[in-house]
Amino acid sequence: MKKIAILGSTGSIGTQTLEVVRKNGDIEVLGLAAGRNIELLEQQIREFHPVLAAVWTEEDAQELRTRAADTGTKVLSGMDGLIAVSVLADVEILVTAIVGMIGIRPTIEAIQAGKAIALANKETLVTAGHLIMPLARERKVPILPVDSEHSAVFQSLHGNEHKAIHKILLTASGGPFRGRKQEELLEIRVEDALKHPNWTMGQKITIDSSTMVNKGLEVIEAKWLFGVDTEQIQVVVQPQSIIHSMVEYVDGAIMAELGTPDMKLPIQYALYYPERRYLPGERLDFWSLGKIDFERPDMETFYGLKLAYEAGKRGGSLPTVFNAANEMAVSKFLHREIKYLEIMEIIEDCMRAHKVIENPTLEEVLETEAATYERIESRR
Ligand code: NDP
Repeated sequence: MKKIAILGSTGSIGTQTLEVVRKNGDIEVLGLAAGRNIELLEQQIREFHPVLAAVWTEEDAQELRTRAADTGTKVLSGMDGLIAVSVLADVEILVTAIVGMIGIRPTIEAIQAGKAIALANKETLVTAGHLIMPLARERKVPILPVDSEHSAVFQSLHGNEHKAIHKILLTASGGPFRGRKQEELLEIRVEDALKHPNWTMGQKITIDSSTMVNKGLEVIEAKWLFGVDTEQIQVVVQPQSIIHSMVEYVDGAIMAELGTPDMKLPIQYALYYPERRYLPGERLDFWSLGKIDFERPDMETFYGLKLAYEAGKRGGSLPTVFNAANEMAVSKFLHREIKYLEIMEIIEDCMRAHKVIENPTLEEVLETEAATYERIESRR
């Protein structure tokens, strides 16, 4: 039996990971961590019998301990709880499906403890890729991408030499506002931005997809995962989300992974890599599909993507500012405290005000995050 733990088990990726576990029946779940949804976490504890569970607040942990007293699962809280789940003895793969750069410390601790990482939590790699990738190489720990685009690139790289990569072509749906101009985005409400045309995901990534900041985060994530320059990564808008991403080689050959939009595919691939397992579900039918369309991304309207390229190219602490500013701005938009277009304005303002730290330590990454939040809070 393969043994795993999941950070963010109650979220979109976390619950789909557990669906994959349930269907296959040969994976043992030893640890589960969630934020606030203790009802669902309790159900998961009863179904999967982990030895350890963690929630964010001690108050929720106490409530869960009472509810699940008969299960024998130990319950912890806070960052200590997240880390304890991440380094749990016997766990082979840690699925990082938590949202935001809160995942940095648990991911680093898990790598240090020799756990393979099935990585969905892109914010961690965007802000601390320069710390995580060398550490993973040193500890000989694989970082297995769960993001569908990066899984597609990972799959398209098999059997080819790294030095033969010419370009990585990251596909993008373009989100619900594709084709609109800035003046048509002024009155976008939370409900409008939460409607993704092809994927059902957590709230933060759905907003990020609508602003194309998600694609920007993915560009920086790809740079770290695949060891290429930002300039070698090109975003191709492909509204049907059929081609999940591609690699162009020096001889002009392009390898791609295609399929219906279903996150269980990259999740299962990461959990069983290099084995391929049967996955039930809809198959791609080229006759009903008919055609696949391509467009250039509109980086003037969705200039968050342009800012991500700038942050990825400049490196140092700038990607942390890009990410932290976006995390707080999206949270404020979801709480209806700012308007939609202010998300990109805030990111740009924080990036312009920042003095870049080269090669920041973990402490400097976290200080940069805190300073970015302070700047946003003192805006008005
Ligand atoms: P969700 O918002 O659906 O889930 C986030 C999870 O993180 C929940 O389980 C939540 O717990 C948990 N969480 C949040 N804060 C804390 C905390 N302080 N301590 C412990 N747990 C916490 O997000 P998604 O599943 O959509 O996304 C997760 C990550 O995967 C993101 O980085 C996203 O960019 C990436 N990703 C997602 C894809 C998708 O299809 N959804 C595709 C590719 C990448 P709770 O709900 O209990 O509060």
